[in-house]
Amino acid sequence: MPDPARKPLPGELPSNRLTVSTRCPECGAPLGIDAGSRVASCAFCHRAHYVAGPREFLTTFLEPRLSAQDALAGAKRHLRESQVRCTEVELPRLVLVPYWRLQTRLYRWIFGTRLVAPHPGQMEETPRSSMLARDFDHTWPAVSLDTGLSGLSTRPSVLEVKAFDPQALPAGATWLRPEREASKALEQGLDLVTGLLHHDDSRPEAERRVPLQHSLTLIFFPFFEVRHRFRDEGCRRILVDAVGGEVTSSDETCEAESPPGAAWLPPSSGLHFLPLACPDCTFTLDLEVRHEVCRCPNCHRAWEVGESGLGRVTEQVSRAAKDPSARMLPFWVFQGSLSLPGHGELSDMGTLKRLAYEGQVPGPGPGTSEGVPPMEILVPAFECRQPDKLLELAARFSLAGQEWPRADTPASGTCLLSSESAARMIDLCLLRVLTVSPAAQASFASGGCFSSRGARLIWVAFRAEGREWIEPETGAVLQENMLGAW
Ligand SMILES: [Zn+2]
Ligand SMILES: [Zn+2]
Repeated sequence: MPDPARKPLPGELPSNRLTVSTRCPECGAPLGIDAGSRVASCAFCHRAHYVAGPREFLTTFLEPRLSAQDALAGAKRHLRESQVRCTEVELPRLVLVPYWRLQTRLYRWIFGTRLVAPHPGQMEETPRSSMLARDFDHTWPAVSLDTGLSGLSTRPSVLEVKAFDPQALPAGATWLRPEREASKALEQGLDLVTGLLHHDDSRPEAERRVPLQHSLTLIFFPFFEVRHRFRDEGCRRILVDAVGGEVTSSDETCEAESPPGAAWLPPSSGLHFLPLACPDCTFTLDLEVRHEVCRCPNCHRAWEVGESGLGRVTEQVSRAAKDPSARMLPFWVFQGSLSLPGHGELSDMGTLKRLAYEGQVPGPGPGTSEGVPPMEILVPAFECRQPDKLLELAARFSLAGQEWPRADTPASGTCLLSSESAARMIDLCLLRVLTVSPAAQASFASGGCFSSRGARLIWVAFRAEGREWIEPETGAVLQENMLGAW
């Protein structure tokens, strides 16, 4: 169980430590699934398992830490202190209330206007286009019952979350059914966190939002419900947080009948385990927490993890000009075509450059012709603490159209984003490519899209210079302290 007193390290997300307990399919020992990872490693048999299936249906609960007697004593004390008259206090009932939990890295590009004062006493609206990004770990109630807790705050990160199992609950416990389907809840959650990611001073008119590596889970949180009444007046209830022990809600009227029905069962999670083994040579694959591309330590092939399983990655390694200390950073390369409203498919590199540098939205013309390099968008696939820097790098590399000399050594290391996750970033990268040309940017924002015809992963060599990493061909610079988790 995680140590509640342990403080997160700088840059470490509390969510990195959350585990959902279950059992190792190989040896039956307790197994923790990290909520941000698709891999679970068994501490006993040392086998690694890939957790397949939709995350949305991962249903968990927090165990009560308070006894029913303590809950009753707390409720009675509360009644006394708030001078509520009552003639009858019932025994506490354990009720599990569902909360949704959304963990995601959210990017939001906002187009709008902002009020500025060019001269004293004069206000003017000026266009504003900017990108915001943040990691979220947000909880909100899945039912409209007022429990007095609008969210679980850091509780899921400091307490052990267990896979929901009605049989493991104390006798007589009941639970409430979430009022929305998971897909609707995901939309609701994204709207909630999008609302938290905004500029105070701008009026958004259009936006692109990209949730990355998002996971939605359901957490049942335990409350003790203590019903009380005065003579033949209506029934009222007090809710006691069965983890922290505080009274969170009191004096609510409620139905006198039986406690809420527990007939509803959460859909079976659909999670299942696949061995994390190389499909070609069966060696256990290397994969870091949160990463989505793993590597075989034996045949060096890279595999990306998706909902259904492992997929082979096409890779290319650039030659680090005789520099053994070079740092290899991964980028996904998407070849495809761009469509802008009112224009045909634009699929060559020259058109993209004209758009980006001259702001010319070209007329309908021929697609890729012989000898013209195809349009390729490069998306960084590694952790970087500065999202702006990642997009700048994407724009610089995409526009450079750089052909790096290939190395004949195999790639090493795992990487953060799968092609599917990186593909979600293409729109943001294109918006960044088009920054110097507001007309083209606005045109793309108002309904443009990029269709990808395929993806490959390239590893680009960055050379160490003091505390910086430099890519010599494009002159791109990354500070050492930018690399790493947010
Ligand atoms: Zn095991
Ligand atoms: Zn292999």
